[in-house]
Amino acid sequence: KERLLRQSDKLSAVGQLAAGFAHEIRNPLTALKGFVQLLKSKSAENQNYYDIMLSELERMNYIVGEFILIAKPPQDKEFEYRSLTAMITDIVTVLDSQAILNNVEINCHFPQELPKVLCDEHQLKQVFVNLVKNAIEAMPEGGLLLITGELAEQGIRIRFSDSGKGIAEDQLPRLGEPFYTTKEKGNGLGLMICHQIIENHKGKIHIESTLGAGTTVEIVLPTNG
Ligand code: ADP
Ligand code: MG
Repeated sequence: KERLLRQSDKLSAVGQLAAGFAHEIRNPLTALKGFVQLLKSKSAENQNYYDIMLSELERMNYIVGEFILIAKPPQDKEFEYRSLTAMITDIVTVLDSQAILNNVEINCHFPQELPKVLCDEHQLKQVFVNLVKNAIEAMPEGGLLLITGELAEQGIRIRFSDSGKGIAEDQLPRLGEPFYTTKEKGNGLGLMICHQIIENHKGKIHIESTLGAGTTVEIVLPTNG
């Protein structure tokens, strides 16, 4: 319990920091990007250098954007009742080609009559996209991702179970820390975002994993606000 408390302290400290600097960085970044684009269009040479600068600026912009998102206070007033089944179907449609390219099969099991959830649809989809991407990335040799939804006592329970490489036990407590990644091209922001968004929805997120066998991420969202 103590560890959980400290974990959320850590998140709010990160959120405050993020609120301070993310906005400050975005404006100069936008200016830089504009001038690089201008130089690129006026120059006959060095096009590849400009392209690298633009894609690196885009990467900075992405990271700053993720922090702005968590710094944003939860806006309950903008929450609407939405179908989780529809949201999952949407994001699976978008990510399916990436899954197929990686020999990953995605199976979804949702009962028809699942109640709607009071939520920010855009934010929840971002959580689901992050979890599906992590699952695909955990199965470089291919595998199965099973996504299930069911009505539980505490709300709607959604599980993402992959047959991937799993997570070592000593790494589990670090998941969700900003910039914690084990991937060469990772940024370690995905799970931090997931934690923050699920917390904003008064839900719970829990990760279980067996090294070499697979990982299950479980989310429970309250059905009555
Ligand atoms: P990133 O994907 O950029 O590394 P995340 O915050 O999404 O950042 O994930 C942090 C780390 O958690 C990953 O680098 C990986 O080690 C581990 N992880 C997350 N999801 C899974 C999964 N489904 N299977 C195995 N490891 C995972
Ligand atoms: Mg990720």
